[in-house]
Amino acid sequence: MKKSLLAALQERPLLGDGAMGTQLMFAGLEQGGCGEAWNLSHPEKVLAIQRRYAEAGSDCILTNTFGGSRIMLNRHGCSGAAVEVNQAAVAIAREAFDGRDGYVIGDVGPFGGLLEPYGDFTETQVREAFQEQAQALVDAGADAIIIETQTSLEELALGIQAAKQAGAPCVIGSMAYDVTLDGSTFRTMMGIDPERAAKFMEELGTDVVALNCGTGMDMARAREAVLRYRAVTNLPVMAQPNAGLPKLVQMKVVYDEMPDDMVQGVAPLLAAGANIVGACCGSTPDHIRAFRAAIDEYIKINLAAPHAAAKV
Ligand SMILES: [Zn+2]
Repeated sequence: MKKSLLAALQERPLLGDGAMGTQLMFAGLEQGGCGEAWNLSHPEKVLAIQRRYAEAGSDCILTNTFGGSRIMLNRHGCSGAAVEVNQAAVAIAREAFDGRDGYVIGDVGPFGGLLEPYGDFTETQVREAFQEQAQALVDAGADAIIIETQTSLEELALGIQAAKQAGAPCVIGSMAYDVTLDGSTFRTMMGIDPERAAKFMEELGTDVVALNCGTGMDMARAREAVLRYRAVTNLPVMAQPNAGLPKLVQMKVVYDEMPDDMVQGVAPLLAAGANIVGACCGSTPDHIRAFRAAIDEYIKINLAAPHAAAKV
């Protein structure tokens, strides 16, 4: 039987996957289109993207459900299908591993609005939407749930509580930090710094503290964030930085960090204490393939058990 994700993390660092949104665009999704609906309407296209990540060496694949809460789906007129969209996503990600042991991480992104009193959504509405999504992902067999690209502790808490209530075997909380204008530090759009986020997540019973996406959060900044998490918690840490910064080239958004650039930051991230390394916006299967080689090299140098080597 496959080890649980948390048990596997105790033994070696794992490789996550790369971007889904930008890959869906390459596959023909229109700007503003509902990528999550493709789990039902174009499952073969979602599978093809995730298969490329599995083939590149990903140990963990996030489901195509970033905007899979009923509140987000509602914007595209398909909220009635929230359960189906999320369940199909788990099956597709599982199929991408093609029978190999791999971890399917059910992805829960922001609900896309602001909570009262700043916005129009009540806590109850958001709680119910997250509960429905998390339950569908867990029921379909997700190995973990990640509440990702979070900027406020209130919304993060609703997501984490929903994942725990759904019985997720592992709950990951992932914050999106922005580098401040003077470049001296980083915090979320809502002003939360990594220490506060990590402590808050630990109090809520989160299993893994993470960061993803954000602005200006390159591999070196992600390493700083990992160190700042490590200073306040012993929980496993996950990092999924963007492939550099977005640029508009011939009316298309491209990210400026190529696999050869980004991969330089993998070993330092692992040395800082990251347990799962993947990548966010703009990253591709080529980035993940380069990461695979770097992680394997790191494991060979740092984690090879002497008796295992002696057996050969
Ligand atoms: Zn991103």
